[in-house]
Amino acid sequence: MMNFYMPVQVFAGKNAVKDHMPDLLKSFRGPVLLVTGASSAKKSGALDDVLAVLSEQNIKAVIYDGIRENPLLSSCMEAGRMAHDAGCDLIIGIGGGSPMDAAKSIAVYAAYPGLTEEEFYAKKWTAPLPVFEVGTTSGTGSEVTTVSVVTDSTGRKHSMSDSRLYPKASFGDPRYTMTLPLSVTLSTGADVIAHCMESFFNKKANEFSRAAAARGIRLLIEPLKKAENGEPLTLEDRSALYEASILGGLAICVTGTAFPHNVGYFLTERHGVPHGIACAVFLPRLMEHIRRNFPETADALYDAAGISEEDLKTLILGTLPALDFRLTEEEIEAELPRWENNRTVMSTLGGYTLDEIRVMLKEL
Ligand code: NAP
Ligand code: FE
Repeated sequence: MMNFYMPVQVFAGKNAVKDHMPDLLKSFRGPVLLVTGASSAKKSGALDDVLAVLSEQNIKAVIYDGIRENPLLSSCMEAGRMAHDAGCDLIIGIGGGSPMDAAKSIAVYAAYPGLTEEEFYAKKWTAPLPVFEVGTTSGTGSEVTTVSVVTDSTGRKHSMSDSRLYPKASFGDPRYTMTLPLSVTLSTGADVIAHCMESFFNKKANEFSRAAAARGIRLLIEPLKKAENGEPLTLEDRSALYEASILGGLAICVTGTAFPHNVGYFLTERHGVPHGIACAVFLPRLMEHIRRNFPETADALYDAAGISEEDLKTLILGTLPALDFRLTEEEIEAELPRWENNRTVMSTLGGYTLDEIRVMLKEL
């Protein structure tokens, strides 16, 4: 079986916004809500490019720049209501995964401004506003996924996936990622490796998702090695990292992620670990689990990606900073029930038991 559905118009390459956004704006009157973080949209040059295109088309822009890392649902509610009150007919997320994911949830609130938190998560909504995404990191692949990860009012990260959340179009110009600090280049690179591996070693993987995942890893090996060695990255390196992130996104569109993402959310919520790092710390364990139980699948990935298992492990470890905390036993025990029969955790090839998760968390 090789089922997939991916309706996003993707433009990834130099001048993607200037060359392709005007045509796609023709079916909108505006105003348009632009969703950004604190400064990356400006710093990367993406915001100026989008504003220039909107102004040429005489479309008014309303800006919401209140999205922070690990976006809050309350910010999405606020921005959604702002878009609703301004009569916006399109939401454009500009930034990394945080503003791009937020744009999808904001699109729901823009169409249903009265939704409560419970109704939002229970999906008591049908047609969110259309969304464009302009990516400025090379990590989440949110440009091509149905996923919006937002933090609820109790501080827990929820990964909501729904085909109605697919962006209508995505524009990724690797030039925007030239301003990424080294730490974000490494953590977003780690996120891409996690997407590709969690997808490849997933019960739902198929021919298409495996091809995308393996190619994603192959593309990022050399530029990520350069980044780890502190060498400056060229536009070509940045383009390869960006394309790898899109391929990782396409792979998880088919399969979803697996246990490292789901368990990783906890490290971000409790200890502020950047998303990619919080997932990648578990990849060496995932690799051992697959080597032990599914050796042929392990070989299939490393052969297709053109890297040995040991070298890939070294590349992953090179992205990880030292973690400056230890999890207490009470903390681990209090959290464990969250992963019992969890669908994402169980989609890992061979599944994952609470005992195995307990051991991994203790070892961190
Ligand atoms: P991010 O949280 O969007 O951004 C991280 C940091 O990088 C922020 O400080 C941001 O600044 C800065 N930044 C972004 N682009 C920059 C640029 N071009 N130049 C300089 N600085 C830049 O990071 P992310 O890793 O892309 O996204 C992580 C989020 O996505 C997490 O919440 C994660 O759970 C979610 N996620 C979603 C999916 C999915 O499928 N949708 C998959 C994996 C993860 P500003 O604050 O100024 O923007
Ligand atoms: Fe991720």
